[in-house]
Amino acid sequence: YVWSFTDKATYDWSSEEEEPDGSARPIQVLVVKDDHTFELDEAALSRILLAEEVQNREVVAISVAGAFRKGKSFLMDFMLRYMYSQASEEWLGEAEEPLTGFSWRGGSERETTGIQIWSEVFLVDKPDGRKVPNDLLSLFGCVPNGTLFSTPCLIPNVYNISQNVQEDDLQHLQLFTEYGRLAMEETFLKPFQSMIFLVRDWSFPYEFGYGQEGGMKFLEKRLKISENQHEELQNVRKHIHSCFTNISCFLMPHPGLKVATNPNFDGRLKEIDREFINNLQVLVPWLLSPRNLDVKEINGSNITCRGLLEYFKAYIKIYQG
Ligand code: GDP
Repeated sequence: YVWSFTDKATYDWSSEEEEPDGSARPIQVLVVKDDHTFELDEAALSRILLAEEVQNREVVAISVAGAFRKGKSFLMDFMLRYMYSQASEEWLGEAEEPLTGFSWRGGSERETTGIQIWSEVFLVDKPDGRKVPNDLLSLFGCVPNGTLFSTPCLIPNVYNISQNVQEDDLQHLQLFTEYGRLAMEETFLKPFQSMIFLVRDWSFPYEFGYGQEGGMKFLEKRLKISENQHEELQNVRKHIHSCFTNISCFLMPHPGLKVATNPNFDGRLKEIDREFINNLQVLVPWLLSPRNLDVKEINGSNITCRGLLEYFKAYIKIYQG
């Protein structure tokens, strides 16, 4: 059950002064400034989403949201590898190959915050072999920082969190689903579909094992509503259950000290813990499997690239009040 890849749509950035070689790269489409105001680079976003060959096609987008410096870009780059290898068996790459794509790096300073999306859009065919007028598209969004700016229409959303699922994490999720709901009212889009909690550096595999199965059991326990919980805790949980038709969770092991602490680490597999790689080999194909990314269920109103642009605009407008 894999994608059949047809092509990639790339806007020719070579005419842009800032990027003379026109190669695929992350494009910053939303910038959060120091005074917490923000700016949507509508021109940049339009260049990707309104390109002739994609604008009217259905889109599947995947975004990774969560606090900064928690390995989101690192993960996105492995997802890019998977897509560029066209889901081949050897997608993971060579042991000594540095990891490229979304810029990820160590250190405690935050970089630019906001939303970055990958400049190249992957054109894929629906896997069931039916001839459909629109190819399904896959677009990678990355939210390098600020849970608030994760756009819930980018389905499925991966919520990247460190070590555990805390009350704070659930509250953030509640907050941004609220904004998402408002944006949906404006653009007539249907509610969210799936949400994947991705827990990094999980350190209790003896309680709940790594991967999806352990993750589901763990999350079930975390999201359980019980009478003796404080009302606020109950409400957050009810809200989350009501927003998503499909909630799952994946527990990832720690990638090892070289990844976490060596400033010269460049992403090569050789220096990543085996346990992490093993789980990565399950996680990435799972996240990107057509089964997970299929947008069919959204009440028949699948979103096109053009629609996605409108959604972005509405979302930003609501934030700006
Ligand atoms: P982002 O800001 O969330 O996109 O984080 P980055 O992907 O830029 O990664 C920040 C730092 O965390 C880098 O030094 C990575 O090598 C490291 N890193 C990547 N994945 C993990 C992980 O699963 N656990 C830990 N502890 N560090 C990671």
